[in-house]
Amino acid sequence: MTKRALITGITGQDGMYLAELLHDKGYEVFGLVAGQNNPKADLLAASHPYVDIISGNLLDLVSLIRAVAHARPDEVYNLGAISFVAYSWENARLTSDVTGGGVLNILEAVRFYQDSSGHQVRFYQASSSEMFGKAQDVPQRESTLLWPRSPYGVAKVYGHYMTINYRESYGMHASSGILFNHESPRRGVEFVTRKVSRAVARISLGLQSGVTLGNLDARRDWGFAGDYVQAMWLMLQQDDADDYVISTGHTHSIRDLLTVAFDEIGIDDWSDYVTVDPTYVRPAEVDLLIGDSSKAEAALGWTPTVTFDQLIRMMVRHDVDEQAKLSAG
Ligand code: GDP
Repeated sequence: MTKRALITGITGQDGMYLAELLHDKGYEVFGLVAGQNNPKADLLAASHPYVDIISGNLLDLVSLIRAVAHARPDEVYNLGAISFVAYSWENARLTSDVTGGGVLNILEAVRFYQDSSGHQVRFYQASSSEMFGKAQDVPQRESTLLWPRSPYGVAKVYGHYMTINYRESYGMHASSGILFNHESPRRGVEFVTRKVSRAVARISLGLQSGVTLGNLDARRDWGFAGDYVQAMWLMLQQDDADDYVISTGHTHSIRDLLTVAFDEIGIDDWSDYVTVDPTYVRPAEVDLLIGDSSKAEAALGWTPTVTFDQLIRMMVRHDVDEQAKLSAG
């Protein structure tokens, strides 16, 4: 029997990598897309024609009940969210409703479908290392106390515990992946890795003279999104649902990111090209993230395959090609 999967947030970086992974494994892939006349849906339809696109919104329980009934999924991956931390302070209520409340809605839609059809569904929740916030352990693991530092982080904590609660209350096969930052050439340009890789590419082509950033001292555990969607899938192939940290176990500062990115275009000293603007500094910062994914390694057999250095160079090379094509018209 062909397996069927429903992905929310399918137009995002992870949604696209996961759709490809599941399609390669022979799944029928359904994707929830929000909004009327959404240009991202048109791009997805062109690049991933095998995806069955369903209109719906995490804020609208009725649309989710309809989407799940249409997809009749074996697996549901909840990747949809307002995902940009800086934006979440300016839109705290909306972030709470979509990123937090949306998890409750999709869990309820899945539970309703299971109860009415008798068909068992496995559920994946995209939890986040931002839940660790003011990190209470170094490195952070599944048992580390959660101390979120942004409305986004708080909303993710709600979704995380709601997922655990549905597992414990209703026996649902609901797993939560606590994924540390993961990037790729498909990362949104608002995130620091892609902001830097694109700026560096444009600097190398003479299209831009510098880049303005915020806090250069923050440290993140950055991995490759293509590796991380593999972990999501593995979690749903286990007999029992559980929670797993997914990370590389290495941490780097924004300064390290700049050093590698500029090195890729042959610039040793990036200081002349980088300006710090305090308006980019956040009301509360997550200073240090570094994960311990030994549980995932032991239980899932998952390990990352792309190093930080390889990841950043891959992103810069992609953006050099892309910007060169764009500027050639
Ligand atoms: P996050 O970890 O989900 O918030 O991912 P981001 O890529 O948005 O930010 C990672 C870190 O980079 C945070 O500590 C930011 O404060 C820091 N940072 C420094 N300058 C910038 C900037 O210009 N844009 C973004 N997005 N982050 C920046």
